[in-house]
Amino acid sequence: MQAAPRPSRRERSGVDRVFLTRILRRAKPWLEASGHQAAAHVMPPVCPSCMAQLRADGDALCADCRGALRPLAAPRCRGCGGTVDGLLELCGDCLAGAARPWERAVSVFDYGGRMRELVHRFKYNGGVCLAPFFAAEMAAAWRRWAPDEPAEAVAPVPLHWRRRLRRGYNQAELLAAGIGAALGLPVRSLLRRARPTRQQARLEREARQRNVRGVFAARRRGAWPESVVVVDDVMTTGATLEAAVRELKAAGVKRVCVLTLARG
Ligand SMILES: [Zn+2]
Ligand SMILES: [Zn+2]
Repeated sequence: MQAAPRPSRRERSGVDRVFLTRILRRAKPWLEASGHQAAAHVMPPVCPSCMAQLRADGDALCADCRGALRPLAAPRCRGCGGTVDGLLELCGDCLAGAARPWERAVSVFDYGGRMRELVHRFKYNGGVCLAPFFAAEMAAAWRRWAPDEPAEAVAPVPLHWRRRLRRGYNQAELLAAGIGAALGLPVRSLLRRARPTRQQARLEREARQRNVRGVFAARRRGAWPESVVVVDDVMTTGATLEAAVRELKAAGVKRVCVLTLARG
């Protein structure tokens, strides 16, 4: 008499592992966004951009997504952190506009293609798992492009409290925390948003400047640092950063630089 075939593990456990894996993969970004680090133990690490499985444990993105990002080319513009043509210190954009209120700007990536998608995910889809990768790239760019720049503290561009509450986090704060840790600098909340504003991305240049005029207020607590690096995700016209930096300078900060992930 032939012995009955041994039941498979799947039959024994009564759980469809393929189905379970699929559910967990879908739930992973949500779990991570909710701050459940347990997800990392349940699932192998996946690329936060395309959800492909990562080859090495320490990788932040898969090779495909990493290769699709465009780091800004050298030489760099002092005014905005973007690329300059030739020997000039400033790009055409910065030469044509009013003088920037900061001493130097540093940026990492061109704000196009995959980077635009990633930033969107980071800001609007709870892609907080991208913060360590972004912050590491920003800290490395700061070391490379502003090695002699004095900096006593890192300060994120604040969100209005209502927007922060709705989003659950401020992306600039997450970046500043990682950059501060990498550079050994304290993170200071030196500014607050005095009023809510419309989203800058939907406005033209002049409307952007009007939209952010007088929007920041200094938090007067404790001693003010003499030199600050202001951190934000993207610089497009620079209107938001200009308003923030003007407020810091008016409050007595002597040197202010800006560090952004991408230059649009
Ligand atoms: Zn990927
Ligand atoms: Zn420039």
